[in-house]
Amino acid sequence: MDIQVSRKEKLNDLAFFGGRCLFTEPKSTSSLAKPDFDSFLDYSEQFFKRQHYTNNGFLVKLLEKRLAEFHDTQFCVTFCSGFWGLVLAITSLGLKGKSEIIMPSLTYRRMADIAAWAKLKPHFCEVDPKTLSMNRYTAGECINSETALILAVHPLVNCCDVQGLVSLGLEHGIPVLFDSVESVYESTSIGKVGSFGDAECFSMHASKLLNGFEGGYVTTNNSELAQRLALLRSFGFEGQDNCAVAGGLNAKLNEIHAAMALTNLDEISQLAARNKRRYRQYQSELQAIPGIRLVEFDESFSTSYKNVVVELLDSWPLKRDETVDILNAENVLARAYYSPPLHRKRMSYPHVPASLSETDLLSERFMLLPCGDHVELGDIGEVIRILEFIGSNGVEIASRLEEREAS
Ligand SMILES: *Cc1c(COP(=O)(O)O)cnc(C)c1O
Repeated sequence: MDIQVSRKEKLNDLAFFGGRCLFTEPKSTSSLAKPDFDSFLDYSEQFFKRQHYTNNGFLVKLLEKRLAEFHDTQFCVTFCSGFWGLVLAITSLGLKGKSEIIMPSLTYRRMADIAAWAKLKPHFCEVDPKTLSMNRYTAGECINSETALILAVHPLVNCCDVQGLVSLGLEHGIPVLFDSVESVYESTSIGKVGSFGDAECFSMHASKLLNGFEGGYVTTNNSELAQRLALLRSFGFEGQDNCAVAGGLNAKLNEIHAAMALTNLDEISQLAARNKRRYRQYQSELQAIPGIRLVEFDESFSTSYKNVVVELLDSWPLKRDETVDILNAENVLARAYYSPPLHRKRMSYPHVPASLSETDLLSERFMLLPCGDHVELGDIGEVIRILEFIGSNGVEIASRLEEREAS
């Protein structure tokens, strides 16, 4: 634990007001899984000896096979990032001649850019305040004659309305693509995440559950789609120069990323178990802090316990963004939950203008607390103590902040 013992007694002890910072190293909300180094070297030796570093190598194929098994799907196609996996899946699945893609506004900050690369206009939908995610009703309100695709994005804790969104798509003949980046390890009442809708997209960025440094993949039971995606990630070429599909680019995963992803996949259940211990610690210690509610995992199904999301209730004395700023100054890299929401951001590309009052309210109430493999149980105790200090001195802190703003 790299804590400078700096217990806060008065306001000036807060780093935000010039005191010493709680952690010397930042404690972020990224997973940053650190697997067994020797296993990583063992995998890496395999591509190194073959001198096959990229272009559908041995480890990429092995990883795709293992991920398809893990998600109970027939096919898995890897990419250099989740971003390009999503773009290529959207361009492949979207109904031709239609211009809109339905997605939540309270979601990953790059989602509208992804739509722009796929040449579709985001049509932002509301979320259900109980789950913080889109469902069949909020998505259904956005369906019109221009809808090309429903992008069903899972929230940071638990899953979206999988069954409802799949049936909505079937009813209207609109393809459904899941962004399951935050639900790699989750199960629902109708089975494991990975085989729902037309396809599901995942990321292997170091901050996500399955760390491949960078990378992404798409799972599907549609063999034509899988073949098409495998061509698109490799310039759209078959053989040397024969352009089999238009719109291809270079979005291949390389072997060293596959080696890291395989090492982490071998250890994913241990990672989930460590996440669970961290989550339990937050769960028990947060109870003592009035004004903060932990967003709990539904433990009736498999879950990764990765993200620690809290709601700041009306009784919490500070605004969410003020709280985040004060924590960040201590090197507690708490993050606002998907804020600003996408429909509030300035956008240079076409989109369907939206007015989403529920999303506006929700986007100011939630934040993520440090989690992942660089966070030790003792660190969590320190995060709790600083929250306690902020909460019990909140009125004073608020007036100090007001003075600052006035001057
Ligand atoms: C991170 C993320 C992505 C993009 O993944 P990259 O591999 O970083 O490109 C897409 N969707 C969601 C919900 C994400 O959190």
